[in-house]
Amino acid sequence: MSAELPTLVLATANPEKLVELSRILAAGHVGVRLLGAGEFPGAPEVAETGRTFAENALLKASSMARYSGLPAVADDSGLCVDALNGMPGVLSARWAGRHGDDEANLRLVLAQLGDVPEEHRGAHFACAAALVLPSGREHVSEGTLRGQVIREPRGTNGFGYDPIFVPEGDDRTTAQLSPAEKDAISHRGRALRGLAPVIAALVH
Ligand code: IMP
Repeated sequence: MSAELPTLVLATANPEKLVELSRILAAGHVGVRLLGAGEFPGAPEVAETGRTFAENALLKASSMARYSGLPAVADDSGLCVDALNGMPGVLSARWAGRHGDDEANLRLVLAQLGDVPEEHRGAHFACAAALVLPSGREHVSEGTLRGQVIREPRGTNGFGYDPIFVPEGDDRTTAQLSPAEKDAISHRGRALRGLAPVIAALVH
């Protein structure tokens, strides 16, 4: 019965992330009642001022744990391009200036890599997932997905830089994978799966 399960808040308003975390926790047999940030409309907006994905994930999870009085999970992620010294990195969502303008962000990366040859177009997606308890206890799990930035966008699934990223061992972009195929290998899937046993141990 859900009333007896420990409750966990996911510090994101993104319903897709809530569904993904629910699926991963269910697959790991972690019994929790999962709430979205939408259930806490007064929760403060958190500026992503950290220098790393882990710092940003911890900022978001800590703020929500303090506000809600419940264990909270948050993630932060981005694309790190070798030829750009790991950028856009934590600036991925606002690389072209306006937060969340996926098309402009992707076009800017393609332009920046215009002269870069195939062998130097390596990149990885990275994700840090943080769990913070109301006591202040915290844990971070990280995941990456290695691949290459191609020259022209392909595919319509996913979001962000998916249409220009081909994971190692595949010839399709992550925008050409089904959601289940992407979850199985993705940086976010890996980071959240790594957190599942920690959630099970800490919240029960
Ligand atoms: P956030 O973790 O929701 O803040 O996402 C940061 C940004 O990184 C997104 O806006 C995307 O531009 C990029 N990003 C993170 N994960 C992915 C992914 O799985 N595919 C494509 N882009 C991603």
